[in-house]
Amino acid sequence: MTIQPQEKIRVAVIGTGPGGLAAIIHLLRVPFVELSAFDQATELREVGAGISINQNTWRHLHLLGAANAIEQISARGDGTKVDHEQRNGLTGELIAQSFQKVEINAPPRSRIERYKLQNALLGQVPKGFVQLSKELSKIEESSKGTDLTFEDGTTAGPFDLLIGADGIRSAVRKHAFPDHRLSYTGKVAYRVIIPQSKVAHIKGIPKAATFWHTKDTHVYTDPLDNGLFEIATRASEPEEDIKKVSWGQKVKPEQVQHHYDHYCETIKQVIAAPDEWLEFAMFGGPRLESVISNGHIALLGDASHPLSGAFGSGAAFAFEDAYVLAQALLYTHKNGESVSQAIRLYDEVRSPHYKGLYQILNNFASNAKEIEAISPPLIENDFINERTRRNWNAENKWIYEYDVTKVWKQYIDTIDAGKDLTKLSLQKNKEAETAIVPVIPVSA
Ligand SMILES: Cc1cc2nc3c(=O)[nH]c(=O)nc-3n(C[C@H](O)[C@H](O)[C@H](O)COP(=O)(O)OP(=O)(O)OC[C@H]3O[C@@H](n4cnc5c(N)ncnc54)[C@H](O)[C@@H]3O)c2cc1C
Repeated sequence: MTIQPQEKIRVAVIGTGPGGLAAIIHLLRVPFVELSAFDQATELREVGAGISINQNTWRHLHLLGAANAIEQISARGDGTKVDHEQRNGLTGELIAQSFQKVEINAPPRSRIERYKLQNALLGQVPKGFVQLSKELSKIEESSKGTDLTFEDGTTAGPFDLLIGADGIRSAVRKHAFPDHRLSYTGKVAYRVIIPQSKVAHIKGIPKAATFWHTKDTHVYTDPLDNGLFEIATRASEPEEDIKKVSWGQKVKPEQVQHHYDHYCETIKQVIAAPDEWLEFAMFGGPRLESVISNGHIALLGDASHPLSGAFGSGAAFAFEDAYVLAQALLYTHKNGESVSQAIRLYDEVRSPHYKGLYQILNNFASNAKEIEAISPPLIENDFINERTRRNWNAENKWIYEYDVTKVWKQYIDTIDAGKDLTKLSLQKNKEAETAIVPVIPVSA
């Protein structure tokens, strides 16, 4: 369908986590979009513990007008402050360190409570705008658009564009890609934020965000700048031991502690400190070849890349998606092009990004295989150190520095160059089409 300049595009956003809220904020600024938003929740609140605000996250919080609402509690240092440490969880041995950035345009990484991020975004959305208690249960596509049915029996639509921002277990993804399978990864995350006073007596806790690795699991410790202390862990738990839907459930310390008996003394004591934990069963699935469907459905955030929290930057990925989708609608509308063309551009920019992220996970798996094949076999400590060194090197830093605004600009410049060439008949149509090059991640 080609959109006439005077026509409004009817858009529905399903899900209002960080991704859905970012999409709403961007699209509310687009005059030709008639926006509706739905969430299954009865109230908009965030469960969980901390969330890292990396350089790419800050960039988008500024674009969303939500940065000022988040105190920037990590003061910029002179570059000598250790930002991250990678340690051997069995011995406590330091494997690698990285230092805080000092560049003026790169705010230091912060770790904040998740609800603060949610509140900062909600501050940019008119009260009552999101329709709550609307669990999407059915999607019907026709030539008139997409109609939605919710669990409470109500309906909405038709819409010209359906944005599935409904998280890792996305109902929109299930509809668009019925053969895609999500499964329990065999890993559970236990997370908590407690006062620093509860761990003040424990020796050997670094002042930096620290990953303590073992062969199968890790523990993350982070003394936050506001007197709180975050602990986030992974544990292996077979499916029969864990309720498959467990997400943000409170659990007792006994359920958590036994997983970390073999860790070094510092971590054993840290794990003993909380009176209660939150448990998250981790789900994941293969990469989708495309994050769009049928010319009028776009997946965004965790719905578009079921990576199971890998890289600790899912909110930033969702913000990047929302930015590109809004830009694509603006760009195609200006050119009198269709919604289906807009989401095709969105897909061309975002799918390669997710391909790159999945590739890193494949590299992790290859690293582990290569190290396992070393002869004579490495003892466990050496295995952990070698794998950590290989996985967490500077090569992956681009994820957190990635500037999708530059990538988008580069992309449309390439398209525009192709169009100009076509106009001037300097190239045959076919060649102009191929001028749409795949996007290579660029650093900020
Ligand atoms: C253990 C863990 C640690 C993480 N740490 C970090 C971190 O440090 N930094 C970071 O940036 N990211 C982190 N992430 C990832 C981050 O939490 C997610 O990537 C981010 O929340 C994704 O946002 P989203 O909006 O796509 O989905 P979600 O936040 O999952 O939101 C989905 C929304 O959709 C709604 N919904 C779902 N189904 C339906 C339906 N059928 N109908 C209507 N509404 C529906 C839900 O109620 C929810 O509001 C972590 C994730 C995990 C699991």
